[in-house]
Amino acid sequence: MKPSLEDTLLSAIRTIPDYPKPGILFRDITTLLGNARAFRRAVDELVHPYAGSKIDKIAGIEARGFILGGAIAHQLSSGFIPIRKKGKLPHETVRVAYSLEYGLDEMEMHADAVEPGEKVILVDDLIATGGTAEAAVRLLRQMGADIVAACFVIDLPDLGGRARLEGLGVDVHTLIAFE
Ligand code: AMP
Repeated sequence: MKPSLEDTLLSAIRTIPDYPKPGILFRDITTLLGNARAFRRAVDELVHPYAGSKIDKIAGIEARGFILGGAIAHQLSSGFIPIRKKGKLPHETVRVAYSLEYGLDEMEMHADAVEPGEKVILVDDLIATGGTAEAAVRLLRQMGADIVAACFVIDLPDLGGRARLEGLGVDVHTLIAFE
């Protein structure tokens, strides 16, 4: 019998206590990425609701959102937009500041990465407070993107990120939650 999605993902994700600082339980998806069956299953499940829809672009948040987002873009025949930490993109950018579960940062995307009205799905590995994803939503909307959904493998519901994005009118799709 095929293992459940939850069992497949739970057994493939590694938890590192106190990384990158004390008190954080870091959910490490590199073990999932290294497991062919789990990686494929996660991507298939993230793609499933949008199969057959016309999605112009997948926006992936650096760095783990690039890996998942690239695979999703391929499956949906969409383009890909990298959303990066500041100073990494070579052309003219738009920038926004945001706060993380563990710090402050700024992110950027190329100013010409999306055309007004394009349908975009935002992708990252995990949503915690939602600060990172909210910043990406603001960047994309600033450039006129129509955000169809934000997709994550992991939700940390206690930190409220899903509700935060839903409050911005964004549909949120996650595969597994760690309470
Ligand atoms: P947040 O902005 O609080 O929603 O944090 C989400 C971003 O930080 C994502 O890019 C995650 O990869 C990373 N992140 C936050 N908390 C964790 C965690 N406990 N384990 C792994 N990654 C995390």
